[in-house]
Amino acid sequence: MKTSLSLTLAALATVVTVGAARAAEPVVGVSWSNFQEERWKTDEAAIKKALAAAGAKYISADAQSSAAKQLSDVEALIAQGATALIILAQDSDAIAPAITKAQNEGIPVVGYDRLIENPYAYYITFDNKEVGRLQATEVMKVKPKGNYLFIKGSASDPNADFLFSGQMEALKAAMDKGDIKNVGEAYTDSWLPANAQRNTEQMLTANNNKVDAVVASNDGTAGGAIAALAAQGLAGSVPVSGQDADFAALNRIALGTQTVSVWKDSRELGKKAAEIAIELSKGTDPKAVPGTATFTGGPKKQAMNSTFLKPLPITKDNLGVIIEAGWVPKATVCQGV
Ligand code: BGC
Repeated sequence: MKTSLSLTLAALATVVTVGAARAAEPVVGVSWSNFQEERWKTDEAAIKKALAAAGAKYISADAQSSAAKQLSDVEALIAQGATALIILAQDSDAIAPAITKAQNEGIPVVGYDRLIENPYAYYITFDNKEVGRLQATEVMKVKPKGNYLFIKGSASDPNADFLFSGQMEALKAAMDKGDIKNVGEAYTDSWLPANAQRNTEQMLTANNNKVDAVVASNDGTAGGAIAALAAQGLAGSVPVSGQDADFAALNRIALGTQTVSVWKDSRELGKKAAEIAIELSKGTDPKAVPGTATFTGGPKKQAMNSTFLKPLPITKDNLGVIIEAGWVPKATVCQGV
């Protein structure tokens, strides 16, 4: 009897100690999908800064565009003592076992930027449908009529379809009238610019170069599409969209080969995600996190706790805004102009 009581007390002490250690220093494990993309470095800096300010530890792994590697990455982050996870999913379906594992261990998950449609995950992102609307709207301002190409994102990333549906929404009236024609669309495997370039080349060939506009879903794919246009002497005369406010894209906007980038201030997204991860690791109810709304717009219509941030289109007319916000030096934007 005595032994079992002391054992119980010892076990209790261990639990209390572990609990105290966890509470003293949250460890946030961030699983990146494709860290090579320029924007994620800014997101990471913001996450690290917010965690440091809160006395929390940052650990991370990069799946290098491999859904399989991401599963072992998340396991490794858990093994390293993560008390909360922030996951930028490479593949929204393939990530499911990692979420189950985290849930079984009571480790909260923040689905970062891309939807992980599991109500256990908190979803934080920019309004991606709105990004798509903005991309198409700015391109349409330049070419209200003509043959359009759609260089979509990675098929394993739900953002690709959110963006495309926003683009279609913005163009619907002009498409219904027959002013705008969709003469080619393709997903871009892993969002790689080289794949976007190859797809654009094939679509240009299929249309005998009779292409008036390219709605590309991010700046990386815009870069690939513009390289394909340039090879046909079309760069600068065919409007092209993007998103992320990559430095090269902002320079292309100044030079006139890209029409618009949609700026999603990832310094804000990273900061908010870090703060939410810390809150959740303290046991706060996700619904009690300030600004939390319910999102049901995913393919499975799951109700998710979410926070959406607002994107801003950047064209030649308002490049000053992003320079003044300290996102990019003027010399970088204006190089070669
Ligand atoms: C993000 C974009 C990014 C793309 C490729 C998307 O899910 O929303 O900002 O350019 O992934 O990494």
